[in-house]
Amino acid sequence: MSKGFFNVPIPKNEPVKSYAPGSEERESVLSQYKIYYNSQIDIPLYINGEEVRTGNTVTISPPHDHKHAIGKYHLADKKHVEDSIRTALHARRNWADLPWEQRAAIFLKAADLLAGPYRAKINASTMIAQSKTVHQAEIDAACELIDFLRFNVKFMSDIYNDQPISSDGLWNRVEHRPLEGFIYAITPFNFTSIAGNLPTSAAMMGNVVVWKPSDSQVYSAKVLMDVFREAGIPAGVINMVYGDPVMITDTLLSSPDFAGIHYTGSTHVFQELWKKIGQNIYTYKTYPKIVGETGGKDFVISHPTANSQQVATAISRGGFEFQGQKCSAASRIYLPESKAQEIIDLVKKDIDTMKIGAPDDTSNFLGAVIHERAFDNIASYIDAVAYDDNAEIVAGGKYDKTKGYFVEPTLILVKDPKYTTMCTEIFGPIVTIYIYKDNEWDDMLDLANNTSSYALTGAIFAQDRYVINEATKRLQDNAGNFYINDKPTGAVVGQQPFGGARLSGTNDKAGSILNLIRWVSPRLIKETFAAPKDYRYPFLDT
Ligand code: NAD
Repeated sequence: MSKGFFNVPIPKNEPVKSYAPGSEERESVLSQYKIYYNSQIDIPLYINGEEVRTGNTVTISPPHDHKHAIGKYHLADKKHVEDSIRTALHARRNWADLPWEQRAAIFLKAADLLAGPYRAKINASTMIAQSKTVHQAEIDAACELIDFLRFNVKFMSDIYNDQPISSDGLWNRVEHRPLEGFIYAITPFNFTSIAGNLPTSAAMMGNVVVWKPSDSQVYSAKVLMDVFREAGIPAGVINMVYGDPVMITDTLLSSPDFAGIHYTGSTHVFQELWKKIGQNIYTYKTYPKIVGETGGKDFVISHPTANSQQVATAISRGGFEFQGQKCSAASRIYLPESKAQEIIDLVKKDIDTMKIGAPDDTSNFLGAVIHERAFDNIASYIDAVAYDDNAEIVAGGKYDKTKGYFVEPTLILVKDPKYTTMCTEIFGPIVTIYIYKDNEWDDMLDLANNTSSYALTGAIFAQDRYVINEATKRLQDNAGNFYINDKPTGAVVGQQPFGGARLSGTNDKAGSILNLIRWVSPRLIKETFAAPKDYRYPFLDT
């Protein structure tokens, strides 16, 4: 029981370090990278606080150097998944009862560990195994995750503080209980911060979690587990398993104690998960919460009044940073005829200067795409352009997987605004441009609105305020995060809560109170001090 109304530390966004030549942080992250490159990590499952090695292992290699092994991870079988459910439910008894300030302290400590002693490790592991540049690793694995942890603690205390009023003679109180059962967290490869946030946001609210990271993010996930354990998360509260995603999912979703899913990844997988939850609905003790942030086909729309250099920079950064593998990456662009060539030339100039390679050479702007399957898929879209009269490659277009899965930043120009690369999420450094006639601005807004089934992020560039107002209104349902004169990537926790609508997700806004509220089930307690002793009301009197 708490013996005070505690104020949590006021969160501030973690400052992004520069990694400029000669800086201490650069030296330390590059030497950690070298250690990882020259050693062999052995990553166990984590069940009930124990490291479980099954002997059934998969080798890990950097995407930019795929013939070089940097370790292995152990695969779970069904029994390990069942153990993780059992152990989570056992841990729930004490964890759900722990005073909230004790839970808060654990996550604040985890944030400080990441900001200090683990910063180089979390960044280097993200660089080597997810092929992020040092800047992309810093804004994701270090800063965004630190922000998630610190801001979520504040949101948690705001939720607990939200109490009903009470009339005379009674007292209304709301307890924000954790869900009755366990939460299944499934995370994608592309953000270490999301991998850390999905299990911890639910655990922070008193829930217990079985976490399945992406096979392509296991390295930095292991560093996260080290942080969580050192921060003091008790055994069994967050269990981590990997292996066949279908077997793991079927085992977890068929448990009567399944109470919620916290998912980020592609749309199709989420739809399958939702379907399975529906099929199992008669099994569950409680209606599970379903939270999923999924794919995107994010747009940049330029009006004739926009500044061409600003539009070009938004395309170059928004489309090509982290090889276009952000759910928010700019991938379909609408340019006015009067400015199109100028903007395309500016982007081509940027592309000419972008170096591609391993992230320990910090002059590289792009690394490799995540794995061979992704590489082959991206290459197939580039190849298809050669056979299509409706599309041409105007920059980039080469790819090579001899040493790493490298794809050049590529611009495709299309005549058909519904050409496949304008509609489909490719998840690579491919940006498609459609040129509209200046006097067809109005129709183009409808076109942009109706082209994709996603609605994650989008940006409009214009100087004319009437135009900005009109586009903001007309594109209301077309993006959960809408940007005016800015690129559509780079949401900051506490400032731009993130999530999309339509087939981009349930829009429960990671990095905001709206997300944390999904992980509690409020109990109202009404206490009456002088309960009535007569059933009759005055209106019954004659
Ligand atoms: P993915 O869908 O391949 O995998 C996501 C997770 O689901 C992984 O842990 C994976 O192992 C698991 N999985 C795969 N198949 C499964 C199955 N049949 N059953 C259960 N689990 C399964 O996605 P990815 O390649 O890791 O990540 C990229 C995708 O994530 C893109 O579509 C991107 O837009 C999306 N994403 C969205 C957001 C957002 O906030 N909206 C953020 C990051 C990534």
